[in-house]
Amino acid sequence: MKKSILILCTLMMISCAQKQGNPFFEDYDTPYGAVPFDKISIEHYMPAFVEGMNQHKLEIDAIALNEEAPTFENTIAAMDYSGELLNKVSLVFFNLTSSHTNDEMQAIAQELSPLLSEHEDNIRLNASLFKRIESLYKDRANLDLNTEQQRLLEKYYKNFVRSGAALNESQQERLRQINKEAALLTLQYSDNVLKETNVYRLVIDNKEDLSGLPQAVVDAAAEAAVDADLSGKWVFTLHNPSRLPFLQYADNRQLREKILKAYYMRGDNNNEYDNKDIVRKLVNLRVEKAQMLGYNTFAEYVLEETMAKNPKNVNDFLDGIWPKALQQAQKEVKELQQLIDSEDGKFKLEAWDWWYYAEKLRKEKFQLDEEELKPYFEMQSVREGLFTVANKLFGITLKPINNVPVYHPDVEVFEVTDADGSHLGLFYSDYFPRESKRGGAWMSNFREQCVKDGQNIRPHIYNVGNFTKPSGDTPSLLSLDEVETMFHEFGHALHGMLSQCSYLSLNGTNVSRDFVELPSQIMENWSIHPEVLKMYARHYKTGEPMPDALIEKIQRAATFNQGFITTELMSAAYLDMYWHDLSEQKEYDVNQFETDCLNRLGLIPEIVVRYRSTYFNHIFNNNYHAGYYSYLWAEVLDADAFQAFVENGLYDQKTATAFRQNILERGGTDDPMNLYLKFRGAEPDPKALLERRGI
Ligand SMILES: [Zn+2]
Repeated sequence: MKKSILILCTLMMISCAQKQGNPFFEDYDTPYGAVPFDKISIEHYMPAFVEGMNQHKLEIDAIALNEEAPTFENTIAAMDYSGELLNKVSLVFFNLTSSHTNDEMQAIAQELSPLLSEHEDNIRLNASLFKRIESLYKDRANLDLNTEQQRLLEKYYKNFVRSGAALNESQQERLRQINKEAALLTLQYSDNVLKETNVYRLVIDNKEDLSGLPQAVVDAAAEAAVDADLSGKWVFTLHNPSRLPFLQYADNRQLREKILKAYYMRGDNNNEYDNKDIVRKLVNLRVEKAQMLGYNTFAEYVLEETMAKNPKNVNDFLDGIWPKALQQAQKEVKELQQLIDSEDGKFKLEAWDWWYYAEKLRKEKFQLDEEELKPYFEMQSVREGLFTVANKLFGITLKPINNVPVYHPDVEVFEVTDADGSHLGLFYSDYFPRESKRGGAWMSNFREQCVKDGQNIRPHIYNVGNFTKPSGDTPSLLSLDEVETMFHEFGHALHGMLSQCSYLSLNGTNVSRDFVELPSQIMENWSIHPEVLKMYARHYKTGEPMPDALIEKIQRAATFNQGFITTELMSAAYLDMYWHDLSEQKEYDVNQFETDCLNRLGLIPEIVVRYRSTYFNHIFNNNYHAGYYSYLWAEVLDADAFQAFVENGLYDQKTATAFRQNILERGGTDDPMNLYLKFRGAEPDPKALLERRGI
């Protein structure tokens, strides 16, 4: 007896020592309970993960072995609220491995990946737990549940079945191996993309090679050179704010070719960061998993849980647009070639010429120079404009605060309050590229909304971007595309911030992927609306509002180059579907497969697929597998939804409130189409999309 007490004490002491000073083990002692980034160091993660998994396991065991008969509360709701510590540390760690990582963090992620995958499997493959869920599911009609609770029960039941809960033991064993292996491979994949992106530099030491580039771009390249210990030279990288202006403006055709090729060869250089083998392994594991669970293909498995429902609907949807988009792109090729010929270029348009000549054509056709716009898009004023739009639509206010810790000096924090002054949440923005951040733009949470013990826990949301940095005396001046991206990501943020749901698994952006882009894409409509531009787009030096003539040019040029943009995006959506609608495990030759797919589509050589297989993070790392079509799918929704504002007024309160109450506050608490119908009164009309793109 004594001995066992002694052992118990020792164990507790060890764990106490590890917990001491580890912020994850305490309530965050900060304003709003914000993450204390200033107190978190690298050695805090692993013990918190280990203890988080232990606690979660105990909670799950208690639910599974509960002697009382299963009820919604003691099983489904209890599971949804379980794993608090694990959730807490995951929300910090996995966000930072995307937005501010380093080799140590990546190493921890590698070590964690199989542990977490096993932990997840232990829950999903827990037979007695599944029995309880299954019995509730079968009895669901008699449980007197509200819509949200029914959705939650259904979600858990399906998740378990889709994770193999109904399989036999040896199949489950194999599934565990697959999950573990796939988790490691996806991690390695994104790590390789990050390394390949960071390792490349186009170093220019001859001033003539800068010909055509705007001064601000040259200055930023000179600064990048200083950072790289190459003072006096100019450095261009594969990050968007560096690569894209180079492709748009650099007169030197060979160098344009060089940087574009470096970009699209990422992960395909037969070096240590090559991703071809990983892609091959991943698609085979996905085929195996899908078939084990009773589906022909991984796409079938994934799409079952979306608005689109199955691969045929996705392919039909894409096929309905593709020929028109391609035709439009071919028209654009002719126009660009004419421009080359008129300059006596004597060469055929190639992929690395597209941005450059499109920019020239834009100038010629619309007298619109992208560089002319940038002075009106200073980051701070764009963000203020964005906040004003949110205020006019939904009555919310964002106020900068600086009493909350941040993980990098570029991060800014705002308190979000509702029209009646009540607290809604926190909003963090982190907009500039750095080596510790992966490419692209996204939204995520540091804390998620839910109602727990009667208390409405408000979310902490963040937006990340890779926008043009300030350089020298020039503040951050955004391109039109970056402006739209900022509005887009803030739309996701609104979906998270305004959430009024009871359960974690259904809150905010926890909706199907082909619905999640609706709140984000609809916000882009405001970003370039003349009335909105007039309000926020002010010259950073003079404070003058953007002249009407320039606003008009933006409107007229809105459908410019849409053949290219649509085709580039759609070919990636098809490539994603090709990879995931396979029913056979094979030694796929990744490059050959990709070429065959794109040839079958008839993609023209002047356009490179938006993401090649070796750097397609969306589908090989970020859960957009068999889901890249979602962006276009959601555009049908957002074009139709925005039409309601066009009809009733840009800030019409009735429409905005209907959008807020039926979409933004509801998360995944009802079927997406039901939510949409409640807002709009009718299903979306796909024509709005083609019209908007001018196709
Ligand atoms: Zn998005």
